[in-house]
Amino acid sequence: MQVIQDKEELKSVLEKQQTDNLAVGFVPTMGALHKGHLSLVEQALTENDIVVVSIFVNPTQFDNKEDLEKYPNTLKEDIELLRTISNNIILFTPTKEGIYDGQITSKTYEFNGLEKVMEGAFRPGHFNGVATIVELLLTTVNPNKAYFGEKDFQQLQIITKLVANKKLPVTIVPCPISREENGLARSSRNERLSKTTRKAAGFIFNTLQTAKRKFGTENVQDIKEWVQHAFAQNTIFEMEYFEITDESTLTPAKKVQSDLKYRAFIAVYADGVRLIDNMPLN
Ligand code: AMP
Repeated sequence: MQVIQDKEELKSVLEKQQTDNLAVGFVPTMGALHKGHLSLVEQALTENDIVVVSIFVNPTQFDNKEDLEKYPNTLKEDIELLRTISNNIILFTPTKEGIYDGQITSKTYEFNGLEKVMEGAFRPGHFNGVATIVELLLTTVNPNKAYFGEKDFQQLQIITKLVANKKLPVTIVPCPISREENGLARSSRNERLSKTTRKAAGFIFNTLQTAKRKFGTENVQDIKEWVQHAFAQNTIFEMEYFEITDESTLTPAKKVQSDLKYRAFIAVYADGVRLIDNMPLN
C-alpha cells in the first residue's frame, strides 16, 4: 500500500492509473478507522481497480474547538489496518496547508435548504466546511466513484447535490450504516464514551426502531413527543434534536404522503460526546 501526503504526487500516480483505464474508487475519512469505514473500503474494492482512502481531520467543518482537539488520531493503527485488507489501496494523508493551498477557510455553498436543517441548524458552518473539503478532495483524486456512509445521511444528500451543482464527473455511492452489537452506529467518537455509556447507547437505536414501528399508525407530532419523553426519562443521554423528514428534501414532515420516503434523524449527547444516527421509516 502506498501512503502519499503530497497532492501533486497523488495526482501524478492517479493520472497513470486513469490513462490505463483503471477504475478509481475513493473513500474520504477523518481516520480512527472502524468497521464502518472498512465496509465502505471493502465495497469500493469490489467495484474498482484501485481505491484511494483519505485520512484528513478537516478543521473547517468543526464548529466546536474541543471536538476538533479531542478527535482521535490513530494513524499508525489505521495504516496497519488498511495494509491487511488489500494492496490495491492508496492512502492519502494530506496536511491542512497542502490540501487547502495555505488558505484554510470554507467556501460558502447553497444546497436548496438541505444545509439549513438538523446538523446545519445545530452546527453552524459545518456543511460549508464539509463541502469545501469534499470538493477539494474530489477534484484532486478525480475518482470514478466516491463512497459515503448513510450514517451521515444529511451529508450524503448534500454531497450528491454538490456533485450535481458543480457537474463533477463522479458517481456518489451511498453505503449502509454499520452498527455495534447493541445497535449503536459505529463512529470514531464512540471511543470517547465510557464503557457503561457505550453499552447503554443501544437505547438510541432502540428508540429509532420504536419510532419506526409507530410511524405506520401514529402521527409525526405524537412520535416526536414520545421520543422526547423517552429521552427526558433517561439520565445518560441528552437529546439535541429528533426529526422526521422527507428523505430527498430533508424538510420536516407534518402530514405523511404515501408516495414519499421518510427518515428519522437524531442527535444526542453522552459523556460530552455528540452522537448522530438515522433510520428509514418506510
Ligand atoms: P468520518 O471519518 O466519520 O468522516 O467518516 C468517513 C465516512 O465513513 C463517511 O462517509 C461516513 O458516513 C462513513 N461512516 C462513518 N461511520 C459509519 C458507519 N457506522 N456506517 C457506515 N458508514 C460510516
